[in-house]
Amino acid sequence: MELPGGLLVDGQLCCDFSFKPITGSIERKILESNQNVVSLVTHVTNMLNVTLAQLAGMPANKELISSLCSGDRQYLILQLEAIINPASKWLTLNCQACDELIQLELIPGTLPVKPAGQYFPATTTQLSIGEVSLRVPNGADEEALLQQPDNEKQRLKHLLKRLIFQANNKVEIGQLNPDDLDKIDQTLEDMMPQPSTNISTTCPYCNSPQQISLDIFAWMNEKNSDIENDIHQLAIHYHWSEKDILALPKTRRKHYLALIEQASHQVFEELV
Ligand SMILES: [Zn+2]
Repeated sequence: MELPGGLLVDGQLCCDFSFKPITGSIERKILESNQNVVSLVTHVTNMLNVTLAQLAGMPANKELISSLCSGDRQYLILQLEAIINPASKWLTLNCQACDELIQLELIPGTLPVKPAGQYFPATTTQLSIGEVSLRVPNGADEEALLQQPDNEKQRLKHLLKRLIFQANNKVEIGQLNPDDLDKIDQTLEDMMPQPSTNISTTCPYCNSPQQISLDIFAWMNEKNSDIENDIHQLAIHYHWSEKDILALPKTRRKHYLALIEQASHQVFEELV
């Protein structure tokens, strides 16, 4: 599979990635990696670190995952959701015009993605202070911002300091004027690949246009598997070891659980 952005390796953009087969043991690691995690940035890095096999032609690790641009990280979380929770989801909202309840089906992994711009991940641009180079923000930048005081203006300033350079030196962000800041914003937006997080639809009752904004990370906090219960059921019925059960891909594990359920219904029907 291909990232919409990718990583620069020896001057070449590498976009390939693959996930590991999602077995019970990976699901357990996902649960463990999320314990005591307070920030979304770390949660995303941990989740991808447990599940990714390859990234840009290399075995995946936390450092590589943190160096991915923010748009690629979001894209990977959406693809992972499609593997772990492939069933379609129903979104509901009240029409802003007629207040009727609207339902919308969303199939995980199918949101449109804006591709990376021509100069991704870094380019040069002319500001009032002269020519500067700037690059798109990545996971490591997001992590670094968490160490800063909880003040949006300060954090933005700190972020820009990490992204913009003039002849390899840091730029004094206070020198930049509003036109410079607009230009930086536009240049970064043009470069950054971005999964769409807004869905446009029309109310089926009154035809008025509606916008739904999605939280693409919300599923990570839901209970995505009941691995301990699954192990318990399979161990009782088939007498398999925990290790063997954890090595099964999720689909096969669920298939065996469905067979157990079917068999217990038959026994019950024969009794009555
Ligand atoms: Zn309506």
